[in-house]
Amino acid sequence: MLHQQPLPEPWASLPESETLHRIRAAKAALGKKLFILGHHYQMDEIIQFADARGDSYRLSQVGSQQTDARFIVFCGVHFMAESADILAQPHQQVILPDLAAGCSMADMATFDQSEDCWATLQDLAPGKTIPLTYMNSSAAIKAFVGKNGGSVTTSSNCRTAFEWAWKQKDKILFIPDEHLGRNTAFGMGVPLSRMAVWNPALPNGGLTDRQIRDAKILLWKGCCSVHQKFGPADVPKVRAALPGVNVIVHPECKWEVCQLADHVGSTDYIIKTIAAAPAGSKWAVGTEIHLTNRLAHEHPDKTVVSLAGIQCLCSTMFRIDPPHLLWVLENLLEGRVVNRITVDADTKKWAKAALDRMLALPGSGSPVAAKRPEPVGAAD
Ligand code: SF4
Repeated sequence: MLHQQPLPEPWASLPESETLHRIRAAKAALGKKLFILGHHYQMDEIIQFADARGDSYRLSQVGSQQTDARFIVFCGVHFMAESADILAQPHQQVILPDLAAGCSMADMATFDQSEDCWATLQDLAPGKTIPLTYMNSSAAIKAFVGKNGGSVTTSSNCRTAFEWAWKQKDKILFIPDEHLGRNTAFGMGVPLSRMAVWNPALPNGGLTDRQIRDAKILLWKGCCSVHQKFGPADVPKVRAALPGVNVIVHPECKWEVCQLADHVGSTDYIIKTIAAAPAGSKWAVGTEIHLTNRLAHEHPDKTVVSLAGIQCLCSTMFRIDPPHLLWVLENLLEGRVVNRITVDADTKKWAKAALDRMLALPGSGSPVAAKRPEPVGAAD
């Protein structure tokens, strides 16, 4: 995690109304030089200032298309700002309002760990594996994947990426979300017995040589601290509380939860499915609470609740608040760029190669198919 200096005065203690008023004024004064990107999981107080709202990949693309914008302020987390810098045009600078806004999942895979894993795989099964990384990973991991012939995936196009990858090699190394990898592969008919979890903290990933050789997919032991909070017990509970409810969850949720859900798909899929649902329908949503609350607000003719009783909030995203946004904007007005995120040229080159391979994949947007329950560990 990068170090964020404490927010200086006067920004740290301005009244909220003044902060919001000054953000509006700074944004107007910066005009087309500025473009603010707001991730779906951001709080409404930030989203109201976003010029574009979306998931991490779409936002990075949108930012790079704003040719007039010199400053892209990414209201998201660190790996998203890195991705925006990888795709940015040479005259654009990417800014993250709070450097401590990291991602627990992205932090679960380091470049050194991926190199160690790769060396073991090449030793045990030379040339048999292709690496894929979820968008939610550092630029260094994306570069590792790009250098070794693999691609980035999003939660929307994961299935397409897997199809492509298995045409290239026998085995996929999927970094860093074990749940997205398992849910996607299982939906494509791969039995759990052909999946192995690579734990980077253990020698040989905690696996026997045989397990590594037999696996069709190696799932990096990583997860989202938000989506893993949804448990299988939440599903019958919400069904009892809200008869007729549709359960829709993100594929970063555990396999057991996805198997019990009615729908499994990316953030975009969740948004579109609820928007297209008939008035009066009921939805229990397994994703970050700010998005769930926004969906409830935007669709007052439907019942939209969180799948879990507890607040599943992305605490690092939550660091991006109006005082930090105002701080970066007013510094820009003074000609100072604070909290710029840059990716070095070599990392950028290889990470871009992995992103380009993703763009070359045919189509995207297939939801992860949810199959009916099968006991964990069941054989083919
Ligand atoms: S919701 Fe999960 S994957 Fe997304 S930024 Fe937060 S911790 Fe990372």
